[in-house]
Amino acid sequence: MAKKKEVDTRFSKFGTVSFTSLTKLNDFIDRLEQGKVSGTRCKGCGMVFFPPRADCYQCLGNDMEWFDISGPGKLLTYSKLEYAPVGFENDLPYTIALVDYGDYKVFGRLESRLSEDEIEVGMDMKVAVNKLPDRQLTYVFKKA
Ligand SMILES: [Zn+2]
Repeated sequence: MAKKKEVDTRFSKFGTVSFTSLTKLNDFIDRLEQGKVSGTRCKGCGMVFFPPRADCYQCLGNDMEWFDISGPGKLLTYSKLEYAPVGFENDLPYTIALVDYGDYKVFGRLESRLSEDEIEVGMDMKVAVNKLPDRQLTYVFKKA
């Protein structure tokens, strides 16, 4: 008798629009709920990944451990969006950014309260969990 399969849909809690609810990385959501933004590190070769990956493309290993993104990182580039993909229109305008943490880079949004004259390439940024009004989870960059 086959056991009923439990479907793990934790990832549906991520983001304004969730693109997937099924991944091997659902612990990412549990960690967000605990206030931690996390990537994965390959135990085989030490490669670090953000967004987290369950499989290493360098050594093809799949033994990963989680690590928390601790800062600060440096703002590499950013862009203020006046137009957005379907599903994100109500968030406009918002600013997307790439932040360099040394071994890895993190792509995400800047917190909306940052004004444009506060934003400067090279500035220190920290990442923080953000709870949306509809209880979805995401993360934003803040001034460190
Ligand atoms: Zn590896």
